[in-house]
Amino acid sequence: MKILKFGGTSVGSVENLTRVKDILVSDQENKIVVCSAMSGVTDHLVRLTENIRFNDTDAITRSLHRLENKHSDVIDALVEDQETKNILKNKLSLIITEMFEVSSKAYSEVVNSQIITYGETLLTTIFSGYLNSLGISNVLLDAKEFMYVDAVENPNIKKVQKKLEKVLDNNIQSPIYITQGFVCRDIEGEISHLKRGGSDYTATIIGSALSASEIQIWTDIDGLHNNDPRYVDETQPISHLTYNEAAELAYFGAKILHPQTISPVVDKDIPVLLKNTFDPKALGTLISNKTHKKGLKAISAKDGITAIKIKSNRMLMAHGYLRRIFEVFDNFQTSIDMITTSEIAISLTIDNTVNLDKIVKEIEGYAEVTVEQDHSIICIVGESVINDKNSYRLFEILNYIPVRMVSYGGSNNNISILVDTKDKIPTLRFLNEKLFQVQEEVIV
Ligand code: ADP
Ligand code: ASP
Ligand code: MG
Repeated sequence: MKILKFGGTSVGSVENLTRVKDILVSDQENKIVVCSAMSGVTDHLVRLTENIRFNDTDAITRSLHRLENKHSDVIDALVEDQETKNILKNKLSLIITEMFEVSSKAYSEVVNSQIITYGETLLTTIFSGYLNSLGISNVLLDAKEFMYVDAVENPNIKKVQKKLEKVLDNNIQSPIYITQGFVCRDIEGEISHLKRGGSDYTATIIGSALSASEIQIWTDIDGLHNNDPRYVDETQPISHLTYNEAAELAYFGAKILHPQTISPVVDKDIPVLLKNTFDPKALGTLISNKTHKKGLKAISAKDGITAIKIKSNRMLMAHGYLRRIFEVFDNFQTSIDMITTSEIAISLTIDNTVNLDKIVKEIEGYAEVTVEQDHSIICIVGESVINDKNSYRLFEILNYIPVRMVSYGGSNNNISILVDTKDKIPTLRFLNEKLFQVQEEVIV
């Protein structure tokens, strides 16, 4: 069994949906197909949740009608068979009625999750019907029946496995199962979601639960590139990455993968292949436990980072001081990404600022605290990157851009620097030139 995931752009238009269909029929192996919402739809639904929060009934009605029209147009253009068209239009109108009901409830986290995950429900309903109309047998599975992940950061794969096996047993056997990415249930069984971009994570959770032979993530680019193509020209796809490398890049901002995508597959050693829906022949990126090449592989950037400096003369020669500080972050369930220390000060970074005020208040009881927001971690990744003889070149950045922190040697596979977010793009471009474009120096 293979898992194939198609992202928002891949399912974002009638033309692209026919490409996805071609990809599915080009390979005979049994598969579970995980689909995102059409591109732009989840953003539309996020805006709808704001209308619900402010009880703006006119805006809710307008929003749901626009959503219905968009999907109705897709049915018209995609499906030729009139009977299937009617069936799908009926299903669409039932879903929209359901959405009106949910939208009339008082706003809550559960209402929010219910609404923003409807994009996947709409798209998979239409896509499954479309495949049926072409005689491509498939079964539509409701992910809400098996994606009981309990905690997003630490999914309960065994539970998903039990539920999914039962769902598969209760359905007729099919070479293709279609299901929704992004949606899940929390520990109370309430509808929740895997955070934005979470369909990648759905695919690897399902892949792990079923011990799949391979997981393919189909997107709009030919694999993971060595730098962020949104900001840097002349980036190159990387043919092979290890799980460690891919996990670091995903966690530190490579948007092509949801930050947690890799963790479910590592123990079971399931390869993850990143492929381009618009160029299926391109090799893409294979993520596995094999190291093909050591050294520098790629650079990524994670925004929304807050740097906190904690300074106290009591730190001088004192032991137990770091433990005391870390305990505060631990008590407020805030994880730390980067740390640097001097004899009397420690600087660290966090990305979750929900409890920042409380953390600062507590530490201010015994140290001076300075908070700086809007920073970005630039992460340079590769197995054994610190031993790459060209990696020293990254430090030339110090001549051009104010670097707030550097983390080197924490692991052999990652060097991180912290810069003000306004300097992120020049930093990525500078590093691209220095690390990937300058010819190797001949050392004599
Ligand atoms: P999907 O909707 O298929 O999940 P995403 O938009 O989430 O697609 O991810 C694909 C996009 O990620 C690419 O179009 C590209 O702009 C962006 N991206 C950012 N960093 C990288 C990188 N290092 N390699 C490839 N793509 C990247
Ligand atoms: N549709 C969701 C989003 O836009 C999930 C995904 O596409 O992966 O975030
Ligand atoms: Mg994505």
